[in-house]
Amino acid sequence: MKEQLRQIPPIHELQHTAEFNRFISSRNLTFEKGTDLVKESVTHIRTLIQKGVWNGPIPESDLFIGSIFTLATFLEEEKLSLSLHRVINASGTILHTNLGRARLGRETIEHMCNVASSYNNLEYDIKNGNRGSRHTHAEKFICELTGAESAMVVNNNAAAVFLILTALAKNKEVIVSRGELVEIGGSFRVSTIMEESGAKLVEVGTTNKTHLQDYHRQLGEETAMIMKVHQSNFIMKGFTSSVDTGRLAELANEHDQVIYYEDLGSGALYDFSNHGIGNEPLVRKVIDQGADLVSFSGDKLLGGPQAGIIAGRKKIIDLLKKHQLARVLRVDKMTLAALEMTLLHYLKEEEHKIPAINDITRPKEEILQQAMSLVKQLMQKDGTFKLEIVEGKSRIGGGTMPEVELDTYLISILEHRLSLHEFHERLRVSEPSIITRIQQERLLIDLRTVSMEEQEEVIDVLVTINKELDR
Ligand SMILES: *Cc1c(COP(=O)(O)O)cnc(C)c1O
Repeated sequence: MKEQLRQIPPIHELQHTAEFNRFISSRNLTFEKGTDLVKESVTHIRTLIQKGVWNGPIPESDLFIGSIFTLATFLEEEKLSLSLHRVINASGTILHTNLGRARLGRETIEHMCNVASSYNNLEYDIKNGNRGSRHTHAEKFICELTGAESAMVVNNNAAAVFLILTALAKNKEVIVSRGELVEIGGSFRVSTIMEESGAKLVEVGTTNKTHLQDYHRQLGEETAMIMKVHQSNFIMKGFTSSVDTGRLAELANEHDQVIYYEDLGSGALYDFSNHGIGNEPLVRKVIDQGADLVSFSGDKLLGGPQAGIIAGRKKIIDLLKKHQLARVLRVDKMTLAALEMTLLHYLKEEEHKIPAINDITRPKEEILQQAMSLVKQLMQKDGTFKLEIVEGKSRIGGGTMPEVELDTYLISILEHRLSLHEFHERLRVSEPSIITRIQQERLLIDLRTVSMEEQEEVIDVLVTINKELDR
């Protein structure tokens, strides 16, 4: 091994080879940049030889120099590769947090590109020719859709919760039911965020039961807020009770300084229960019932960009807009553009243009049709896969409506030369990446969130995998 390491040509020799000149001119690199890449390549190969895992040509051979430059080329390509990739989500989870939650509709993307690719009136009042506020843009639509007096948008719902607690309850008490002290996605914990904000958490009730009296007893001079947190990612069954919005709002109302705030988590603007899907409270209804303040995510059930939407009484929202943290947590023009267009779809009752809404409400018969067309097309191109259409369930995801299972049809697919896990991985690392799921010893494709164009790509990838295995 020592001998092999000694045989590796030094960098100054490599710099004077024809391969080096070809490498830097073909990749359009400066001499220095090319040298750095060659050094990196040699170091890498050296390590592989030391570890005894180098399986390229041995340093004495003529081919060896070639492999140094092949690796250098690869390293350069890797440095220039983008990190974010498009992924085809065939997992059957619609608001998959790991896969970017809601995808955006065509008109939303167009509006976003339009606004971002030129100057715009983000903070400019065109009518009066003077400074405007970025808060005005989505506000009109949010108020129209929720019935709130006022609204604002921040980075995400976690930011909204933090801003609200910091601005309105620092060094004061916030009463929350023990049954609502949730943790979401492993990184958002109500009790922790409360501590960070400087608000004092006052827990009331027990894990499974909280009564109006429990809140009543804790109300005092120090109380700034009664907060209700939507349970989002879990459900309580059996011997449980909680106090509803109307009664809590009424209780808070009896005390001048006490604000009633609901962290709705998902925040539905569309009534999914009309399709028999869950019983997520509509934002409008919560405000109707007397909540002073609500907050919810832009990219969960709403189906828009990542954002935190705060809606409620003007007097309170004005305080929030003026707070220093509002500046820290503010959103970009692209977010506002995407949010505004998504909201407009609701106002025009064109919810089918919002992919998340469309995917959640797709009837299983339509998915069956799509599955049959995929199976037929694939069999015409390649008869070696074992395919079967089976009934199954899709999930909403994003910590939303955890109890809801949507009926769907799945394609179970078997490739006889690959194990389930190998096949799953092969699809994952394909171009484009396809995310499937393994369940009950089957590899399953759920087409609920797969468009017709993406379906073509799925077929192409499968055919390619087979061809590669044949080789
Ligand atoms: C998801 C969720 C959050 C966090 O919202 P993000 O938009 O992901 O920051 C906060 N509270 C509740 C109840 C949630 O469900």
